[in-house]
Amino acid sequence: MQFDFDLKQRKRILETVFEKIENYYSSTKDFKTNPDLNIKEIRESILTKELAIGINPVKAIQHVIKGLENFSVHTPHPKYFGLFNPRSNYAGIIADLITATYNPQLAAWSHAPFAVEVEELLIKEFANKFGYNRNADGVFTTGGAEANLTAILCALNHKYSKFARDGAFGLDKKPVIFCSAEAHHSIQKAAKVVGLGYNLVKSIPTTNDLKLDTEVLLQEIKNLDTSVYSPLMIIGTAGTTGTGTIDQLNQLNYICKKYNIWFHVDAAYGGGAILSQDLKHNLSGIEKSDSITFDAHKWMSVPMGTSIFLTSKDDILGKTFRITTEYMPKEADKLTVTEPFTHSIQWSRRFIGLKVYLSLLFYGWQGYEQTINHQAKIGRYLKSQLLKNGWVIKNNTNLPVVCFTKNEFETDSNFTKKILNNILANGKSWLSIYPIKGISTFRACITNYNTTEKEIDELIDELNKEATLYAKQ
Ligand SMILES: *Cc1c(COP(=O)(O)O)cnc(C)c1O
Repeated sequence: MQFDFDLKQRKRILETVFEKIENYYSSTKDFKTNPDLNIKEIRESILTKELAIGINPVKAIQHVIKGLENFSVHTPHPKYFGLFNPRSNYAGIIADLITATYNPQLAAWSHAPFAVEVEELLIKEFANKFGYNRNADGVFTTGGAEANLTAILCALNHKYSKFARDGAFGLDKKPVIFCSAEAHHSIQKAAKVVGLGYNLVKSIPTTNDLKLDTEVLLQEIKNLDTSVYSPLMIIGTAGTTGTGTIDQLNQLNYICKKYNIWFHVDAAYGGGAILSQDLKHNLSGIEKSDSITFDAHKWMSVPMGTSIFLTSKDDILGKTFRITTEYMPKEADKLTVTEPFTHSIQWSRRFIGLKVYLSLLFYGWQGYEQTINHQAKIGRYLKSQLLKNGWVIKNNTNLPVVCFTKNEFETDSNFTKKILNNILANGKSWLSIYPIKGISTFRACITNYNTTEKEIDELIDELNKEATLYAKQ
């Protein structure tokens, strides 16, 4: 079977891909932000009988690209004001292509020493940025969900020396995880996966500024029936998914230390602020945490599947994941290196870190700082233009996530629903709705490094027009 093709065919295939992705990359803004969701049409567009013996590769590529262009929300679009899904930067795109070609196996150090050492270096660099000391450890994960799951496992193995052997059945008390009602639901999911059950995740209500209410948290800890329960961890969110709010990390840390509780910070999105001198103060307290989740595939604009778990406890990943096997290569035993498969939920591992390494080599920390400052600035511009145009803002954060509505329609949830329907039907902008303390708001996040004042002006025009129409009916 000619899986490799010959040079001429490979060139033709790559040229087709190049031409197509170049067209998409250079004119993303000309696409409708989102497709019509006609499931019949979508399913019918997918090839089935062609699977038996295959088709011409160029035709196959054209087909796949047409499918993606017609039937996706275009998250790389400069008017996608969405859910932290960025436009992939060019370094990240190239890194994924290179990784697929060389396909280094990052389970064992000796199979891919360059790649593993690159990831180790990046872990140290990020640990340093977040203010951890030199003993900090970490691992690349596929996403924030895997990183949060890793955090819960580390907290359990830290507190219970026999957890690795006996699991939840060996626990004398039920471990409780505290987070805010605005925390990401991957925490509940992780509690299900671990076998604790989501009942042991206690969602603490938020104050008016949407931060975890530390008074209520303290009461909940004091009220725990300690004959049955034991506090395991407190998870602070640095940049909530809904409103971009950062919990009071210093206070959460104080409570954790007082009660000997693991302190995890879910900075999946907001962690990006650490790369900016202007914004990093918002994360004050994160340096005292036991662990951090940070998604590079959000604010660092690398393709999906790129997250980082960091911990200030240097031995905990090994304690949590180490397994000894006869068949894994052991050359590294004699060296002082990390075997990634003993540090990770994953076994065979993709070179996830290359997307970040190549991005830094292309743009530098400096380029990231500029980009992140630019996005924060556009967020401030969006806020000021909304206020000028009679909208009210319902969240309070220095990150570029803005939740807004009109005073006169706060109690009318049809207002946001109807307007959003019209905006999505036009396909010129994508944004979402998020309820804040019972009020339905529009949520717009500057998630694309190419978004400028012009796109904001266009969005505001669209919103104003729709709001006027709504008021008239
Ligand atoms: C996105 C997000 C997650 C989940 O991360 P994935 O990369 O989607 O798995 C977790 N926590 C927060 C705060 C997030 O914003």
